[in-house]
Amino acid sequence: MENIFNIDKKLLHLSNTVLKDCEPYFKEVENICEYNQLKVLKAFCENNVSETHFKETTGYGYDDRGREVLDCVFKDIVKAEDALVRHNFTCGTHALTVALFGILRPNDTITCVTGTPYDTIKSVIGINSNTEQGTLKDFKINYKQVELLKNGSPNLQEIKSVAKSSKIIYIQRSRGYSLRNSMSISDIEKIVETVKKESKDTIVFVDNCYGEFVETKEPTEVGADLIVGSLIKNAGGGLAKTGGYIAGKKPLVELCSYRLTTPGTGREIGCTMGNNRNMYMGIFFAPNVTSEAIKTSIYTTRLYEKLGFNVMPNYKNKRHCIVSTIFLENKKRLISFCKGIQKGSPIDSFISPEPNAMPGYDCEVIMAGGSFIQGSSIEISADAPLREPFCVYVQGGLNFNSAKMTILLSAQNLLKDNLLKII
Ligand SMILES: *Cc1c(COP(=O)(O)O)cnc(C)c1O
Repeated sequence: MENIFNIDKKLLHLSNTVLKDCEPYFKEVENICEYNQLKVLKAFCENNVSETHFKETTGYGYDDRGREVLDCVFKDIVKAEDALVRHNFTCGTHALTVALFGILRPNDTITCVTGTPYDTIKSVIGINSNTEQGTLKDFKINYKQVELLKNGSPNLQEIKSVAKSSKIIYIQRSRGYSLRNSMSISDIEKIVETVKKESKDTIVFVDNCYGEFVETKEPTEVGADLIVGSLIKNAGGGLAKTGGYIAGKKPLVELCSYRLTTPGTGREIGCTMGNNRNMYMGIFFAPNVTSEAIKTSIYTTRLYEKLGFNVMPNYKNKRHCIVSTIFLENKKRLISFCKGIQKGSPIDSFISPEPNAMPGYDCEVIMAGGSFIQGSSIEISADAPLREPFCVYVQGGLNFNSAKMTILLSAQNLLKDNLLKII
């Protein structure tokens, strides 16, 4: 085949070996994808989705059938009692915030049982920022944390001891941008069992970002009370232009709807302004797009392992989220890697990213992401805080053939900058 991107011969050869190594793991990903795709198709058929559901509504958006049916489709996919799928959620953090403020009341306690939560959530809880204004803490909501065990699994004994005194047990499914393991559905099931045995009314709440459609079940299928996520990650299939979702037990989703709009109006309002078609299509494509992102992750970790770097997870490990970590060992490599990713992105390939200060970080950060949807991380993207242990977090890939080339171009850029040797 013609070497369209002029990739170094040795690198191409290595890539072909890597693809062979990945094959059996790709097969597993394809099986999961097929199952999830059928789950989604069934939910569309059973809810009689039709062209009329894509009609644009404005103003209050009363009786927006498209909005109502989309909620039903989503709840059926994740086997929940109810769901809110809305373009009005500005991001995942916003959906999580609406859910937390919807459910928690003064003097309640929320306990995160997967160690330190995602950066933006720390600011919502009130354990990150200089100001407590507007945070859960400001509303007299207590926060506790249970660390993961040394081997990366949840500390069930400790979780048992905090279950009764917690209104919410909070689980983050993805590793996010930390060096811990992602939680498998089986881990989540164990946490649910532990909590419910001790205190059946305690709410098990899952930050589901980056985890949707990676396995054949969602947390709501193993007893979690509420899941929350973003539509510009896995669940939006790269087509939803913005938005998020909340799904789970009916009374909880109802409470969240009062915070999304107002007590009294709840889910009855919220015009969709022509967003429905993209949200339906995005959810329809989500299993497939997620599987392309997982293949990209498996390929990326194997390629960089072969290039001599530590990676997390290993290409052989079962995936529970779409994020891969590569330990590039120094600043120069982080910068060169991200510049290479940008060069191979479909949008803004001509831009060269530079490290910069970012709110919420104690160091400069460099980010590469040439995506159709601004900041979308189901599209191929990379983020690297310029600090020890100098790792880059890579995620996404709308389709494997394209994302594989983007990853190869990151290695090609490292070669060009003399930061890599192929042995
Ligand atoms: C992306 C993400 C969020 C939400 O982030 P947004 O940028 O606000 O969408 C929360 N938790 C985890 C684990 C995430 O990956």
